[in-house]
Amino acid sequence: MPFYTPVDFDYYAPRNVDEAVTLLSEKEDSVIIAGGQTLLTLLKLRILRPKNVIDLSKVSSLRYIKEENGEIRIGAITVHNEVARSQLIASRCGLLSAAAGRIGDEQVRNRGTIGGSVANADPSANYEPVLLALDARFTLIGPQGRREVGAREFFVDAYTTAINKGEVLTEVKVRELSEVGYSFKKAARREQEFAIVNVAALLWLEGDEIKDVRVAVGE
Ligand SMILES: Cc1cc2nc3c(=O)[nH]c(=O)nc-3n(C[C@H](O)[C@H](O)[C@H](O)COP(=O)(O)OP(=O)(O)OC[C@H]3O[C@@H](n4cnc5c(N)ncnc54)[C@H](O)[C@@H]3O)c2cc1C
Repeated sequence: MPFYTPVDFDYYAPRNVDEAVTLLSEKEDSVIIAGGQTLLTLLKLRILRPKNVIDLSKVSSLRYIKEENGEIRIGAITVHNEVARSQLIASRCGLLSAAAGRIGDEQVRNRGTIGGSVANADPSANYEPVLLALDARFTLIGPQGRREVGAREFFVDAYTTAINKGEVLTEVKVRELSEVGYSFKKAARREQEFAIVNVAALLWLEGDEIKDVRVAVGE
């Protein structure tokens, strides 16, 4: 019979990134929780049995959407609905808004975070093809300091990313693409479910001429 309660663990709620990184290094067998939309199920079914859970949701410095030098920067604990409803993202990078607005249902979009989704690297998640098409960059902070990784290097395989043990994903960065055509298509049995296939496309036009096109598929 399956379990529906996690094994006992110690819970920590750091208030800043340094504290989170220290806890991850010091507490043996620890795991990060952000929105909990994926992790809680893994804990309840006892697929994961960590001794320590580090909750990022109180690290308010990781919750933001801002523009800097032609880039949009999104803090890791920004929830999907904040991405979907951001006027800045809608006007400068509509492809990302379109993908965020079609994740799960209201509850999932109010709790789930962009950092949790990309760290989980589910191949049928909405963000992956979009962030690959956009050449997104990811900031990781760990005991060895800060580094930035591009999307092609970041998404290593299904459920596998370039995040090393002890590192926290702190930010997702995308270029502004206000003049670029885009489309996001999600094919799912029901709209609130994970996709069977997601397709993200970007199209650069000069007059009637296609200058460049990018298509990324997640399934
Ligand atoms: C009913 C349901 C329907 C859904 N439908 C969709 C859908 O249609 N499309 C879609 O894309 N997604 C869907 N999701 C998944 C949703 O997008 C989740 O938000 C996402 O998978 C995980 O985000 P989270 O913040 O809840 O992360 P958590 O569940 O808290 O964590 C997920 C994983 O990421 C790690 N992690 C979290 N944050 C960080 C960080 N900052 N740095 C390093 N590691 C981190 C955790 O340790 C864990 O391994 C659905 C989920 C549910 C429950």
